[in-house]
Amino acid sequence: MTAHFRIACRACGAPSPRIAATRCAACGGTLGFSYDAPASWPRQPGRVWDYAALLPLPAGVEPVTLGEGGTPLLPAARDRGARVWWKNEGANPTGSQKDRAISLAMTHARAIGARRIAVASTGSVGLACAAYSARASLPCLILMPKGTPAERLKPMLAFGATVAAVDTTFEGIERLLRALDDSWFQASTIAALSPWQSEGPKTIAFETVAQLGRAPDWFVVPVGGGGTLAGIWRGFLDLRRIGAIDRLPRMASVQTTTFNALEIAMDRGLSTMDELAAVAADESHETIARNLKHGVPPDALAALAALRESDGAAVSVGEDEIRSWHLRLAAEEGIFAEPSCAAAPAGIDRLVADGRIARGETVVALVTGSGLREPGALPPREPVPLPASASLADLDRLVPGRG
Ligand SMILES: [Zn+2]
Repeated sequence: MTAHFRIACRACGAPSPRIAATRCAACGGTLGFSYDAPASWPRQPGRVWDYAALLPLPAGVEPVTLGEGGTPLLPAARDRGARVWWKNEGANPTGSQKDRAISLAMTHARAIGARRIAVASTGSVGLACAAYSARASLPCLILMPKGTPAERLKPMLAFGATVAAVDTTFEGIERLLRALDDSWFQASTIAALSPWQSEGPKTIAFETVAQLGRAPDWFVVPVGGGGTLAGIWRGFLDLRRIGAIDRLPRMASVQTTTFNALEIAMDRGLSTMDELAAVAADESHETIARNLKHGVPPDALAALAALRESDGAAVSVGEDEIRSWHLRLAAEEGIFAEPSCAAAPAGIDRLVADGRIARGETVVALVTGSGLREPGALPPREPVPLPASASLADLDRLVPGRG
């Protein structure tokens, strides 16, 4: 079937001979991938498809790419209590880390000869699907609840996607999606629905090691669905297996204090979706970090496994800390991120304060997406009014300059 990788069930281990399969034919479990040891491995930092030796790319298939990955790893501009680096995923083609996953998903769609794409998303996944579908010349249907703000729809429409505002909730839309037949390729960044895309976040680990020269001591990830954290961890495991690193980082998840199922699970030793559902927050609660709004993260079990295997940590941060860091990342670090990203530095503060992160340790924080796509999340502020007769002295008073 393929030259360098095999597909098998992560639950029961049964091999999956069909590349069109999205779940295990034997037990319904989530599919995963294993790879031959690559003959060579890039030493220089690359982009996503430079790492194709450890990605599921069938022989003879061209990746669907917009040049995703290769994002900057920037040292913090100020003292953050440890050696903090920002992995700025806002530099991806549509401004978020989801471009890595959707490039993989759309390449899978191409490999199996898909004719049309369907996705339910008002955010980064929808935008990435619209762009990559355009690149792959595949018609794309994006379903979202009626009343979604126009600023989120317009870029998707610009990419030529068909955006449908459905008069229902997200649960109602999920029912619609479940009814779709095999003539639709369903894009999702949940591993159980779309296993191929879940290999995309591994490339964040690959790039980080190439940029840093080794694995960091900690890797801190704001967690919504959990798939990104789990994927990054698998990337580090791949690198250790092929001998590119000899030690692994500790993984840390950051959620909001309301949507903190992983933190509760780590504290109480929970390990099933039913146990998580019993402690999960109702999704009617609001948060400024809208990408982190999951009662039970759909890839929670994989994320929990990564946190436990890596001797990591799960913390949560409040709305005020997120709002504050949203502004500080921009004003103090020059990184205008979406509000959800601000959970990462707020989580680092927490881990430094309670002594779990030591001063000399190297910490990479994932900045998941650009704030340029969500300017409405900023507090209202007015420019300084100046009359036409303003003098040079007025301007000097406005910006005195650095002392
Ligand atoms: Zn199985």
